[in-house]
Amino acid sequence: MAKAAKKSKSGKSLKQLSEKLLFTKKSAWEDIKKKELQEIMNLSEGYKDFLDSSKTERESLQSISDLAATKGFVHISKAKKSDRKLLLTYDDVAGALVVVNNLRTLEKGFLMNGAHIDSPRLDLKQYPLFESEEMAYMKTHYYGGIKKYQWVTRPLALHGVVVLESGKKIPISIGEDPSDPVFTINDILPHLAQNQNKKTAPKVIEGEQLNILVGSIPYRFKSEKNAIKLNILNELNRKYGFAEQDFVSAELQLVPAGNSRDVGFDRSFVGAYGQDDRICAYLGMKALFDMDKEKAGKNMMMVYFDKEEIGSMGNSGAASNLIERIVNDVLQHLGKSDYNLLIRSMENSRFLSSDVNAGIDPEWKDVNEPMNAAKIGSGVCLTKFTGSRGKAGSNEAHAEFVAKIRAAFNKEGVLWQTTELGKVDQGGGGTIAYHLARYGMDVVDCGTALLSMHSPFEVASKADIYHTYKAYRAFYKHL
Ligand code: MN
Ligand code: MN
Repeated sequence: MAKAAKKSKSGKSLKQLSEKLLFTKKSAWEDIKKKELQEIMNLSEGYKDFLDSSKTERESLQSISDLAATKGFVHISKAKKSDRKLLLTYDDVAGALVVVNNLRTLEKGFLMNGAHIDSPRLDLKQYPLFESEEMAYMKTHYYGGIKKYQWVTRPLALHGVVVLESGKKIPISIGEDPSDPVFTINDILPHLAQNQNKKTAPKVIEGEQLNILVGSIPYRFKSEKNAIKLNILNELNRKYGFAEQDFVSAELQLVPAGNSRDVGFDRSFVGAYGQDDRICAYLGMKALFDMDKEKAGKNMMMVYFDKEEIGSMGNSGAASNLIERIVNDVLQHLGKSDYNLLIRSMENSRFLSSDVNAGIDPEWKDVNEPMNAAKIGSGVCLTKFTGSRGKAGSNEAHAEFVAKIRAAFNKEGVLWQTTELGKVDQGGGGTIAYHLARYGMDVVDCGTALLSMHSPFEVASKADIYHTYKAYRAFYKHL
């Protein structure tokens, strides 16, 4: 075919027209420069350290507080009036990092990024300890959406806090140090599993079978009723100073034991428990820290919520008035507290609801519509709506706001993709987005795609981690 025949009426070749008009998803690894590759790998190292010290919401908030202190943030309860980098904490499970750069624009609101720091897990029951067949177990109740069968036959660590009647808090962390014991939920051997094998996945292991093995030695080596249980209680009492009733006022969580790992020969993935949503919690914080170099004259915050995995209820969840209390506390600190300013400031804020999304898994492709689903390694996810059955229960972001966000991302060379949680009528899910939108602020969902979400070992692409960080920076810089 002659060259001229390829041209359209406008004189452009098909290739030129494609480049001008078509959107094509790109791999973040394509044509990557050595320097950028190094940045990607370095970023994930800090992220993995954060994950390893942040296995519960309390530990996450502690890690955030520690890192913020090194960046000059001061807890609001101890801050001087002139302090502009503030740490706020609520019930040790939720909080915010706030940077005030401009006192005259408080009415125009804050650039808010919000993530949740709770993750699916197994909680110990109020009275957990029992004996059976000369062994001791503890009963659990799962927290958040899990596939129960994924949590058996693996080492579990116990994290949390026991609060005595006196109010004294006893922190617990057993199972992370290589010399620590771990706990585990047993499963039936395949040889005798013919009845189990007939069950559907949610019934293969039932809720009341999620019992962890905790011991078998009777007190003073005498096999009497409750002697094993008593031996364990005695050991706990000796070591930590609590008794059986103290379990009632405890928050003790079973999480996968061990550290985060690189995954793959090329180390292109991070594999770890709790990446939903500590991935966004960490990257949002890092983006905020690094805005120091940008000298942005804006008021910004990174907000941390609890209870997202069980519906955002409770006074530390996004369905509470936590955001209101945060903004009010900041305004009060600045000596600017009045109701009108509080309401206006929230209304004019812009909020990135930062949470993970479901990456396409080649083994389970049929749950996605590929054009609008998250492709692993193709950048940060921008999710205009969540919900299910006709976007029900979703905060759908306005087109105007999405346009601003996408312009900011493009300006900073962020690799981003538009995403949804499964194809239409496949299922769905929600985030904290609509709880914030209640105050009138613009909100859109934005975060990293995961494989094996809510499992004990979630997987994220290091390239996507990097572009999520870049996206959060672009948001603080340009919105
Ligand atoms: Mn999440
Ligand atoms: Mn989740």
